[in-house]
Amino acid sequence: MHIEQDLKLGFKDVLFRPKRSTLKSRSEVSLEREFSFKHSGRKWSGVPVIAANMDTVGTFEMAEALASHDVLTAVHKHYTVDQWREFTSRVDKRLLKHVIVSTGTSDQDFEKTQAILAQEPELQFICIDVANGYSEHFASFVQKMRQHCPNHTIIAGNVVTGEMVEQLILSGADIVKVGIGPGSVCTTRVKTGVGYPQLSAIIECADAAHGLGGQIVGDGGCTCPGDVAKAFGGGADFVMLGGMLAAHSESGGERFEKDGREYMRFYGMSSATAMKQYAGGVAKYRASEGKTVELAFRGPVENTLQDILGGVRSTCTYVGAARLKELTKRTTFIQVREQENNVYGKE
Ligand code: 5GP
Repeated sequence: MHIEQDLKLGFKDVLFRPKRSTLKSRSEVSLEREFSFKHSGRKWSGVPVIAANMDTVGTFEMAEALASHDVLTAVHKHYTVDQWREFTSRVDKRLLKHVIVSTGTSDQDFEKTQAILAQEPELQFICIDVANGYSEHFASFVQKMRQHCPNHTIIAGNVVTGEMVEQLILSGADIVKVGIGPGSVCTTRVKTGVGYPQLSAIIECADAAHGLGGQIVGDGGCTCPGDVAKAFGGGADFVMLGGMLAAHSESGGERFEKDGREYMRFYGMSSATAMKQYAGGVAKYRASEGKTVELAFRGPVENTLQDILGGVRSTCTYVGAARLKELTKRTTFIQVREQENNVYGKE
């Protein structure tokens, strides 16, 4: 048995230290980034925020709404090939550069992904997603996908440590998805005791990925625009959001009224709710590692997106970063024991 002594940090443990800056207003800040990907050789430019591949978040409707702001959506894996065909033939082709096809690691998932990609050449991104990215089978699946799709940009995860980031990049991933346990509807830490505070995971994994010319997505745990900024400040190239984009007009899931107010159900992809829907129930050998919650309905996602991006732009002005790309360089985190003042309740 071994105990690592240095304290690992989550978003709630730090704040940005403000720095002198020549920027006058947040309208001077650009959140656009351009990336060149290691294996696919492709370039992508846009705002590096990704809607999570959950069936309540990564819908076609979400993809259309976010793509018009140059934001990415990892579309969930439960749409059929026909639904994909209908979607890709309906929307403006230029939006498709911000759309990611998600897949699991079964033979069926592989075949379906090939079929979706074969019918639409504008789809550039594949997200290979498993709860636990540490299995040998996962790295071999990434290798197989890389061999079959040499020109697609592959996102693979989830992991939280540098050595596994390196292995996935060497197996053919361009971008590694980082996060085990921080999610808003995730119960992995409770059910298994496994996890890694998300800010430290991002800092350590970004360092490993950048050393090999790869990128990372910080996935999970952002509860407010300030957390999104902290993820970027810690070195995340992309930030993936579930809960913050759930319960909007473009989100998936049941919408219902209770005591005169509108709500939407939001649940983890390994929750009993999701497993009942897609796998006919919770298999005997596994525990559900996600929960189901009811969120107040929040209207069109555009307003929330403006709030998030406005917050990150403002962070950039506080530390003097004219472009999002400069945020990490300009970041000094201070460790804290307090965050916001909740004397009149939470916002
Ligand atoms: P959020 O932004 O809501 O904090 O986190 C979203 C992320 O939580 C997703 O992208 C995914 O990685 C993770 N997630 C989604 N559903 C589940 C689940 O049922 N169990 C676990 N452990 N993680 C989940």
